[in-house]
Amino acid sequence: MKIRQKFGFYNIIMLITPIFLIGVISVLFVFLFVMKFPVEEFSVTRAQLLNPVTLIRSAGQFISANPGSVIYVFWWAILCISAIAVPTTVITRIMSKSLTEPLDTLTKSVENIKNGRLNFEVMGSDYDELNALCEGFDSMRRALLASRRREEELKEEQKLLIANISHDLKTPVTSIKGYIDGINDGVADTPEKLAKYLSTIRSKADAIESLANNLRAASVTEKAEELCTGDIRELLYDILDSYRLDLEACGIKVTTDFAEGELIVRIDGKKMKRVFSNIIENTIKYRRADSQSLIVRAFAQDGSVYIHFTDDGIGIDPAQLASVFDIFYRADTSRTSLIQGNGLGLGIAKGIVEAHGGKIWLTSAGEGKGTTAAISLPQYKEESNEKDFNNRR
Ligand code: ATP
Ligand code: MG
Repeated sequence: MKIRQKFGFYNIIMLITPIFLIGVISVLFVFLFVMKFPVEEFSVTRAQLLNPVTLIRSAGQFISANPGSVIYVFWWAILCISAIAVPTTVITRIMSKSLTEPLDTLTKSVENIKNGRLNFEVMGSDYDELNALCEGFDSMRRALLASRRREEELKEEQKLLIANISHDLKTPVTSIKGYIDGINDGVADTPEKLAKYLSTIRSKADAIESLANNLRAASVTEKAEELCTGDIRELLYDILDSYRLDLEACGIKVTTDFAEGELIVRIDGKKMKRVFSNIIENTIKYRRADSQSLIVRAFAQDGSVYIHFTDDGIGIDPAQLASVFDIFYRADTSRTSLIQGNGLGLGIAKGIVEAHGGKIWLTSAGEGKGTTAAISLPQYKEESNEKDFNNRR
């Protein structure tokens, strides 16, 4: 209810209650008076009734003849005054309380927020205007609480991130130091052994460099910089071709299932290749001993081009699917295993796909049941004679 309506309602009650009470009190007193005193002695004519002087004189004569009647008149007057004063005071108090209570709550809430206490609820009010204010205040409190929680989560994530970086750097560095010590101690005593040691040191240094590059890519907000328009199938054939030997070496056969018709997208080909590379490398890394297939599908639907990579590898526990895009996240199976990786690839891929206005997600029926990495990109409609993915016109 609005403040104006409710106050109008209180005003009506404040007016009606005394009238009603005075009426009841007066009827009661007239009845008692008539029963107690000889009212016929207070006989006044109509003319006397209209003349205040004669009326007062007649009343005076009646009172001097019946002194006890003054007490009745006195109590009648006291009760009538009370009938006005009591309801007015009570209703005024109710009115002011109904206004001051929510205002007090708001003042306390401001105090709580000022002192950093956010775990409380701002109660509403019967008045629409104050209720809107309380609700606005409570939603501000909830937003502050959510942002504080997010801040705490970010701090935790930051700690975890630093712990992961230090772990992922320490491992190859320790190994490089071990191999150098081996060389110094003369363990690599043949040219073959020395070459093997040096090549391991080189590969560990490469791993550190790749981690540094990936960290940089993960820390910047991706932008699609060199946009080209072309058929996504062309890019997919290119990338699959470049991984053909690696996939064959692992016994993985690639099947392509590309829809006919236009699958034109406008993308930064170099960056999108990085996304596809990580997905294909994941297929290789997270395969099972008997994994043998990677199915790549591409099709258009409702203004988007979809690309699905379905493998028959180790799969992912569905509970972990949402986290695989977090920086440094590796599903339990890969963290504990000896598979190389820093858990950066999908985080980087997400940044790149989203910079193109697309989406990327993973699905899996569970551990040991394969994984599908799915990407959707906005379909490009217009004809264009710009450079294609391979910079051809
Ligand atoms: P990086 O890509 O930085 O070398 P990574 O491959 O471990 O390391 P992501 O590509 O981000 O990191 O993948 C994150 C995690 O998601 C992986 O560690 C793995 O647990 C899980 N994952 C990703 N792709 C697959 C897949 N095809 N099958 C099973 N698990 C996968
Ligand atoms: Mg990866």
